[in-house]
Amino acid sequence: MRYVDYIGNLTRLAVEMVNGDVPSELRQEMFRQHRIAEPGTERLDAFLPALRAAVEAASQGGPVDPVNALLERHPPLIRVDDHDGEGSAHLHFAPNGEDAVNWLGRSCAAALAHVVCGDPAVTIGRCHAVDCGRFYVDDSRNRTRRFCSNACASRTTVAAYRARRKAAG
Ligand SMILES: [Zn+2]
Ligand SMILES: [Zn+2]
Repeated sequence: MRYVDYIGNLTRLAVEMVNGDVPSELRQEMFRQHRIAEPGTERLDAFLPALRAAVEAASQGGPVDPVNALLERHPPLIRVDDHDGEGSAHLHFAPNGEDAVNWLGRSCAAALAHVVCGDPAVTIGRCHAVDCGRFYVDDSRNRTRRFCSNACASRTTVAAYRARRKAAG
């Protein structure tokens, strides 16, 4: 796995946790590879506000304080791991098999630190659809994505069309 892919996947994981999505294939795979159990609801609920603040800051390119707060609470522990066999060495920001919230905290804090500093490989956006507010990872070529999903994009297109027709009388 390339380094940027690892940062990108951890960023996707952070966004997914904050959006409250049902566990994706990526999340299940990341947890399985690193021997992490799904976090308990209570601990997760206590952890999410700090993660949300850091994701929001990273989506706007700052302020850096929420990211630093997450880093302070969950300091990354950098290791090199090749659990997928020879040639698969990549950076880890948390030990395998660690408590889920600690692992997420360290890993997501390190990834979001890259994003807030403008690492060109990953951009976080926030959906422009009315009443959505979900975050997404923008990996489009020119970073032109504006919506979290096709559903939000078409909902917005339809609303704009109706508004134009109404204005035209
Ligand atoms: Zn790994
Ligand atoms: Zn949306």
